[in-house]
Amino acid sequence: MRQPWRVAVVGGGIAGLAAAVRLRDRAPAGTEITVYEQSGALGGKLRTGELAGQPVEFGAESFLMRDPTGAESAAVALARRLGLAEKIVHPTVGQAALVIDGGLRPIPGGTLVGVPGDLDRVATVARPAADADTDGGRPLVGPDADVSVGALVRSRFGDEVVDRLVDPMLGGVYAGRADDLSLVTTMPALARAARVEHTLTGAVRAAQAAAPRAPGAPVFGTLAGGLTTLVEAAVTASGATVRRDAAVRELAATGTGWRLTVGPTRDPELVDVDAVVLAVPARPAARLLAGPAPEVAAGVGALDYASVALVSMVLPQPRLPELSGFLVPSTEGLLIKAATFFTTKWGHLRRPDGLALVRASVGRYGEEAHLQRPDADLAATVHRELSAVLGIPLPAPVDGHVQRWGGALPQYAPGHADRLAAARTALRAAHPTVVLAGAGYDGVGIPVCVRSGETAAEEIITALGGSAR
Ligand SMILES: Cc1cc2nc3c(=O)[nH]c(=O)nc-3n(C[C@H](O)[C@H](O)[C@H](O)COP(=O)(O)OP(=O)(O)OC[C@H]3O[C@@H](n4cnc5c(N)ncnc54)[C@H](O)[C@@H]3O)c2cc1C
Repeated sequence: MRQPWRVAVVGGGIAGLAAAVRLRDRAPAGTEITVYEQSGALGGKLRTGELAGQPVEFGAESFLMRDPTGAESAAVALARRLGLAEKIVHPTVGQAALVIDGGLRPIPGGTLVGVPGDLDRVATVARPAADADTDGGRPLVGPDADVSVGALVRSRFGDEVVDRLVDPMLGGVYAGRADDLSLVTTMPALARAARVEHTLTGAVRAAQAAAPRAPGAPVFGTLAGGLTTLVEAAVTASGATVRRDAAVRELAATGTGWRLTVGPTRDPELVDVDAVVLAVPARPAARLLAGPAPEVAAGVGALDYASVALVSMVLPQPRLPELSGFLVPSTEGLLIKAATFFTTKWGHLRRPDGLALVRASVGRYGEEAHLQRPDADLAATVHRELSAVLGIPLPAPVDGHVQRWGGALPQYAPGHADRLAAARTALRAAHPTVVLAGAGYDGVGIPVCVRSGETAAEEIITALGGSAR
């Protein structure tokens, strides 16, 4: 292999940037790393903007502190690697609510993304089916099987637990329906337990026991100053050459490496590299792989995505409840899917002038038509619905922003993990120097995507014949 190595990272989201940092840390000194980002900004779904003179997240808001095994999450480890550990802050108000019959009720604690291990604890919001969760003498899920979260929970606890609890909580992450989402990919810890346990309450308790949390330990963290600081620090630490407004349109094998076609069709730039981290969503990845690996492209490109919009507004002196926000079951018939009271939830964002920042997420999978409405219309509807849910006429906003995220959240159908594993195995066998990373593959969320990018970097180093430093 020629030295120095030339590695292209396609996609400047957090997965691509985590890959670039890991390459810098573990690939041979002098490795040339270039990040190609099609838009004008790095970070992908991490985007810190500003409203009323204060940083506001227009995309992802926070990250999990721990991974499913209970160890420090990859996002925290990356922040530490980048010298940002002391900037991590936690919510001061963690309690959120559910909208049930138009009013707010606290979300019951002790569940796993809404799936209870103790049915009595969810009685305030949903009536579980009586006696359905019986021991049938065998594990809930077969050794290689996958089911939708909704199907499993409906069969064990009945419809209300799904519709009022699990669906809004999973929908808060995926903007999708529990009935469509894979247990194995969206709730891996529960899937592992369900392959052993005979009841769902037993599986939830086993999954919780497998990742014990120290009492009082924070679940979520974010960075004071905004998540864009993570993006900027990763770029600096990676020492990568960054190419913004540089869409990679084609990927062709050269025999010894890869030729990328970059930039506009009329004025393309051809770049030769030794290896490629493909840290883009599944659809652009499938387009790039269509030439060199058509079967892999077909497997990867089958993934569907949901679109959402985040409507942020700054309100003067509203009387907000002492809650971090609320989630809305789709059965409530509201446009709002979730709302976050940022200035209540995050102590570091509270303002002496009493201005409050509220952000609502709208858009569920299959309801994209609502997102065609103009910004002002979405903002007015959100304002009206917030007032109705809170039972108070909210003051008019003094500032606001609508951020649309088209095709942003993967809808992992049952069987996704197996399909992806097959696609990856085929790609590794045919082209070990191209590796997929990011939310299209391993699951959504900053920690998962950081880990995915780091793993991709290590696979590239192995494929190029280097030893991880
Ligand atoms: C609205 C919203 C809120 C979220 N909130 C949270 C949260 O609070 N906490 C959390 O942990 N997770 C959250 N997530 C999920 C999390 O943000 C994502 O899973 C993660 O950021 C995805 O990172 P990624 O690098 O895989 O992909 P992306 O962020 O999508 O980055 C991929 C990049 O590739 C670029 N690209 C695409 N095609 C090409 C091409 N051909 N050439 C060059 N570049 C290309 C894109 O422009 C993009 O910048 C949220 C997601 C959304 C949409």
